[in-house]
Amino acid sequence: HKYVYLFEEGNGSMRELLGGKGAGLAEMTNIGLPVPPGFTITTEACTIYYQNNGKLPQEIIDETMEYLAKLEEKAGRKLGDPEHPLLVSVRSGARISMPGMMDTILNLGLNDQTVEGLARESSNPRFAYDCYRRFIQMFSDVVMHVNINLFEGELEKLKEEVGAKLDTDLTAENLQELIKRYKEIVRKNTGREFPQDVKEQLLMAINAVFESWNTPRAITYRKLNKIPDDWGTAVNVVMMAFGNMGNNSGTGVAFTRNPSTGEKVFYGEFLINAQGEDVVAGIRTPKPIAELKNEMPAVYEQLLNVAKTLENHYKDMQDIEFTVQEGKLYMLQTRSGKRTPQAAIKIAVDLCEEGIIDKETALMRVEPEQISMVMHRQIDPNSKYQVIAKGLAASPGAGMGEVVFDADEAEKLAHEEGRKVILVRPETTPDDIHGLAAAEAVLTSRGGMTSHAAVVARGMGKPAICGCESIKIDLDRELFTVGDITVKKGDIITVDGTTGNVILGEVNFVDPTFSEEFTKLLTWADEVAKIGVRANADTPVDATTARNFGAKGIGLCRTEHMFMATDRLPVVQEMILAQTHEERKAALDKLLPMQQGDFEAMLKTMEGYEVIIRLLDPPLHEFLPDEMELALKLNTLKLTNGSKEEIEETEKLLKNVRVLKEFNPMLGFRGCRLGMIYPEIYEMQIRAILNATVNLLKQGVNVIPEIMFPLVGTQEEMKRLREMAVNIGKEIMDSEGIKLEYKIGTMIEVPRAALIADQIAEYADFFSFGTNDLTQTTFGYSRDDAEHKFLFQYIEKKILKDDPFETLDADGVGQLIKIAHDKGRSVKSNLSLGICGEHGGDPRSIDFCYTAGLNYVSCSPYRVPVARLAAAQATI
Ligand code: ADP
Ligand code: MG
Ligand code: MG
Repeated sequence: HKYVYLFEEGNGSMRELLGGKGAGLAEMTNIGLPVPPGFTITTEACTIYYQNNGKLPQEIIDETMEYLAKLEEKAGRKLGDPEHPLLVSVRSGARISMPGMMDTILNLGLNDQTVEGLARESSNPRFAYDCYRRFIQMFSDVVMHVNINLFEGELEKLKEEVGAKLDTDLTAENLQELIKRYKEIVRKNTGREFPQDVKEQLLMAINAVFESWNTPRAITYRKLNKIPDDWGTAVNVVMMAFGNMGNNSGTGVAFTRNPSTGEKVFYGEFLINAQGEDVVAGIRTPKPIAELKNEMPAVYEQLLNVAKTLENHYKDMQDIEFTVQEGKLYMLQTRSGKRTPQAAIKIAVDLCEEGIIDKETALMRVEPEQISMVMHRQIDPNSKYQVIAKGLAASPGAGMGEVVFDADEAEKLAHEEGRKVILVRPETTPDDIHGLAAAEAVLTSRGGMTSHAAVVARGMGKPAICGCESIKIDLDRELFTVGDITVKKGDIITVDGTTGNVILGEVNFVDPTFSEEFTKLLTWADEVAKIGVRANADTPVDATTARNFGAKGIGLCRTEHMFMATDRLPVVQEMILAQTHEERKAALDKLLPMQQGDFEAMLKTMEGYEVIIRLLDPPLHEFLPDEMELALKLNTLKLTNGSKEEIEETEKLLKNVRVLKEFNPMLGFRGCRLGMIYPEIYEMQIRAILNATVNLLKQGVNVIPEIMFPLVGTQEEMKRLREMAVNIGKEIMDSEGIKLEYKIGTMIEVPRAALIADQIAEYADFFSFGTNDLTQTTFGYSRDDAEHKFLFQYIEKKILKDDPFETLDADGVGQLIKIAHDKGRSVKSNLSLGICGEHGGDPRSIDFCYTAGLNYVSCSPYRVPVARLAAAQATI
């Protein structure tokens, strides 16, 4: 079995075996870039090291020595040779870059003898002694665990003694003295001499790399980032390139493009006369890479070519490390560079336009969530601020304002006084929506990613942090504390929903900019995607937003919000409380023109696209006052001798509220059941939709309404509802003498509807999967309760892999979708199928919907661009 690979023997696809760094060095070697010779000991050797109780088996040691000999031959020098010593670096390298792993050891192979050889050879004794003292310091710290401050202290002491200001002021003789003292420190602290045997140095360093895989820091990092413990790290042994040989030497790091903007400019920093760690350690301030052009024009030119070669080869922006030894360039690392969401988009589009990648690859290069991140206002990365707590990054973007603990107050301050407020609540309920809408951002101490606050905030495109448990909210005193900081009502905080950071005070913001590349990428997405994207929008304002973001239609327009408006609620209540058919009809007659106006505005906004309007869905008591409040009011009226009329009125109302009260409203008198029992409500809505259509058609506006009945579970419901719509349609067409085109369909949101989808499809032109309710009814979980009570723990304990309200449950709910798809299309091959639950904006769920054969997904307006990219990715 082979455990060691020369760089020539590996390649870029061998990350698992050689680690990221080793695979990169191998690939660069093979495409002819100037990499110092070296070899990689595999991650498998690391696994064996641990199986062998933290010892390398002799077999692997022997193989390593064999490869050392090969390296020596390539380098033309030998480790430990007193005349021409080979020096190497020993570098860890896991499959993915991992902080917490061992620091690289440079200059290994120096001892009392080889340092003299190096000094003679380089005709620069100072350089040689500087390497040696650096090596002793690094090796003793990283491998022998001697406190590094002891060395730093000694260095400072010596500088003082000889009157040197900078390290570079120390002479060769000073450094020799320092080396003596360093060795003394090692002797005192480890009870042994600094190892002079260079092979022992090498084996000790290799062991230390393997040991570092299991340092607490590395273990914690793996746990946080879900990296398996058994991956192991590789070890890279690389011939040293000396960047510290004088002023025609140096070292640097660079990105082939700007990683924060994506701009196509070579970007990075370098230091003249320095070794690798000097750049990272920040001891000296590096210079911008552009200056290398003046200082070493030939090297700069070569580096640009290397960058180009690497980009063309990897077909992606690279992050590289290099060293120049007396005018000769050496490449020491390459990897795909980390970048901001903005840069990810620009780089993907640019690489495609440069002909390096195709459209499909460009589309796969951007994470859908990165699209969401660039759409929100962000905190200026250059501003300074104090983070006081961290919660779940529930809805991206940042908001700043005065802390307010009450939804009514938030609304009042924002709307009446134009102040900017942050709503801070333990959690939010539907009663707080107006406060959420008025606030810049919301912060809750409880609840998860799908808690009410999170879902509503994402829907509104409003920043939110949820489940921020470290803040203790005192609603009575109107303050919250975190550690010893107290934040009172009126204090300014900033909520960064992109990171989950709660920041004390103000910060600077940068506005989202929709770059040319953003628009271009999404246009490509639309070209490629074989599943459409619509939006859920209840108002023309939302619909306009959605249309601007690229929605091609409305998948769900809910009508109950139109009933909630303050000027309509009294009429709606009249309608609900009506005792006779005539009374109800009278109230509905008042509502008809209002609804018709709503629909006209909505349909007009979406001219040319299909608009699904769902008829009334929630239980009627949602439109009535709260029972407790009414009871209290009645008591107060009686105690304070209120007017007889008012008392009677209130009594009547309370009685009605009690009559309408349900134990389980979610499964109660709602959805199309309302339309079955009180057909006049749905008749009014249908009439309003079709009248609106007639009016717009007469004006030459091309509108396409789709009437959707919620919560259908039986064929008879669908049959009767269709009849209802068709009859009204006929009547209107006859009286207006105009031909109307409209579709009739239903939501599939109870399991029975999915199971008898063939029966339903006989009377439906389209299905829309209402996966919020379908998930509730399939699991038997009440979404509002499950979130708080057990779902969070279910996920933590891994009873459930994902929150089914966030990511569509492919196994269960998904199966119902498939059944409904198959049965529905077996009856009507052109049956239009879509999804309108929260899942419509979730990339993984979108992938499922594409596979399941749906025509479109529908999501909140702010998720539309995300969904467009996800739709393309699902298709690719
Ligand atoms: P990290 O993963 O922390 O970047 P590296 O192994 O890449 O660690 O090395 C740290 C620094 O040491 C880098 O700047 C690198 O360029 C430098 N370095 C590593 N090996 C050599 C070498 N053989 N010659 C010169 N410099 C080296
Ligand atoms: Mg590196
Ligand atoms: Mg529903």
